[in-house]
Amino acid sequence: MVARNDEAGFRQEGGCQCGAVRYVLTERPQTVYCCHCTECQKQASSAFGMSVRVRRAALTVHGETAKFGKVSGDRRTVCEFCPSCGSRLFHNRPAYEDMLNVKGGTFDRTDWLKPAGHIWLRSKQAWLLIPEGGLRYRGQPDSFDALVAAYGAQWGR
Ligand SMILES: [Zn+2]
Ligand SMILES: [Zn+2]
Repeated sequence: MVARNDEAGFRQEGGCQCGAVRYVLTERPQTVYCCHCTECQKQASSAFGMSVRVRRAALTVHGETAKFGKVSGDRRTVCEFCPSCGSRLFHNRPAYEDMLNVKGGTFDRTDWLKPAGHIWLRSKQAWLLIPEGGLRYRGQPDSFDALVAAYGAQWGR
């Protein structure tokens, strides 16, 4: 299937490492950002996590995911994995049931993902240089409105 990036005909596909779970996103994300919190570092077993926030209604998932809940402080997160290969695919917070965060690295193509900003920079790995431009937060943003607006601006609105 041809991936398209213009807003009208947006279509991107992705899935887990083994292919048992596949998904199709048919609307551009609400926002894209990198999270440098220690939870994302653990979860991604890497320097940061890349979150692609989408409307759940715009994402079609093929295959069953394994879900489990995680609680940190007052935040409860439901994380979804491929039950065959263990890839982390999605997470969401029950407080925002109509939204889902797709892990950016699971898209088949990643060249179109341009983060609007970086959060939890206080725990960023020291060697990592954050590019100029884009929003920066030392910790968790009080609101994601600015990240949504800045990402929307990439699409010309
Ligand atoms: Zn898999
Ligand atoms: Zn994080």
